[in-house]
Amino acid sequence: MSRVAPAVPRVHLVGAGPGDPELLTLKAVRAIRQATVLLVDDLVGEGVLRFARPSARIVHVGKRRGCASTPQAFIERLMVAEARRGERVVRLKGGDPFVFGRGGEEAAALADVGIEVEVVNGITAGLAAATSVGVPLTHRDHAHGVVFVTGHARHDAAGAAIDWSGLAAAAAGGLTLVIYMGIGTVEAIQSGLCAGLPPETPAAVVQGASVPSQRQAFCTLGTLAETVSRRGIGSPAIIVVGNVARAALLASAQTEEARRAS
Ligand code: SAH
Repeated sequence: MSRVAPAVPRVHLVGAGPGDPELLTLKAVRAIRQATVLLVDDLVGEGVLRFARPSARIVHVGKRRGCASTPQAFIERLMVAEARRGERVVRLKGGDPFVFGRGGEEAAALADVGIEVEVVNGITAGLAAATSVGVPLTHRDHAHGVVFVTGHARHDAAGAAIDWSGLAAAAAGGLTLVIYMGIGTVEAIQSGLCAGLPPETPAAVVQGASVPSQRQAFCTLGTLAETVSRRGIGSPAIIVVGNVARAALLASAQTEEARRAS
């Protein structure tokens, strides 16, 4: 179908939230409903796509569905071509587009070639994961701030490996750590953080936050890697480390004790 191309082609970079469609913003729903082409990451919940019109073209560009990930350059070229043809293009990304989603790179690539970009926030997985297990990320008694950090930093010239012991020292002063993409490196995270935080520091791990298959585990920093392995927790998961998780840890230990006693 030919379309009248808008004066300035535009792409919406939309945060799809952690998976539960009820956590979409109204702006996101409107953009998805209006889209004629959607480029979808694989952490985007299936339920979210129910808002797309039946005639919309949905292109899955995630890393998991296929064998290989779709190269970033291809995704960017496709967005540009479709927007220039007059399609209403929505780039749907899990969580928030500007939190570990390469949204910044995509927005810059589009702007460089004169495409207007509108970014729509989504609820980032770190927020959803903590809330889903009743852990407040800040608390006047326990934490005056939050650090969102990736467990999977690039080791090339542009990005240094994470200094976990340095981060632990900062966190010891009252910061909650919210770690994305940390399951594959959980042993290094645990040992690095134990250099600056007591091993009894509470931790929570949440896999698939907000989706029906959500699983969680509570433990201490000193038993984090062992817990992830014993409970078979895999990606996508968020690890929360800090005293804000103490109440949830105690409650889960009590529930477990009651279950054993019954
Ligand atoms: N832009 C996304 C993050 C993308 S990076 C956001 O704002 O949430 C991918 C990582 O996000 C995963 O490895 C995992 O650590 C986390 N993640 C995404 N969805 C998740 C979910 N539903 N539950 C737990 N972690 C999730």
